[in-house]
Amino acid sequence: MHILLMGPPGAGKGTQAANIVKKFAIPHISTGDMFRAAIKEGTELGKKAKACIDAGNLVPDEITVGIVRERLAQDDCKKGFILDGFPRTVEQADALSKILAELGIDLKSVINITVPSADLVERAVGRRICKSCGATYHVKFSPSKAEGKCDECGGELYQRADDTEETMKNRLSVYEAQTKPLIEYYQKAGLYVEIDGRQAIDKVFADVVETLK
Ligand SMILES: [Zn+2]
Repeated sequence: MHILLMGPPGAGKGTQAANIVKKFAIPHISTGDMFRAAIKEGTELGKKAKACIDAGNLVPDEITVGIVRERLAQDDCKKGFILDGFPRTVEQADALSKILAELGIDLKSVINITVPSADLVERAVGRRICKSCGATYHVKFSPSKAEGKCDECGGELYQRADDTEETMKNRLSVYEAQTKPLIEYYQKAGLYVEIDGRQAIDKVFADVVETLK
């Protein structure tokens, strides 16, 4: 059960990844976690990645791909994995295909949880978070009983600085431009599946499970 998971920021990818991990007992491998682990363990590639990050540079592909290769070669990936945040480019997708061929792994599906940009902007702009306990609300979809106050603890609700229309629109247009060639790449490979992320969380998950049958 080797899966690649895609989805724009705010589409609920993290929740679905957690559900897949629980149901299929396979590791969730995100690029961020992989980098942190490699840096923490002080591996050769981890050291190189850290030097780039400390210098404020982008980590070059050969290092990123190397870290992915090391992680996917570990024993817990034999049965399956959910890969998240990699590949980001067609070049990286080619590199991933080579790694998987070396390891004798066939990708089962490339699942993209999609939500139209306008909905994602609305979700983000209406989001409110409790300063004290971190509970999240939405002014339209799940408002607190008293405006600006947390139902759980009475704490003050605030809006995150990057939950604005402009920031969200920018993030989404960057994401879309980046993702389009990858979608085409995996469509050609016959692996691409799109799931409607506007549905209820458990319905989205039911669709995910269905595509993995
Ligand atoms: Zn609270």
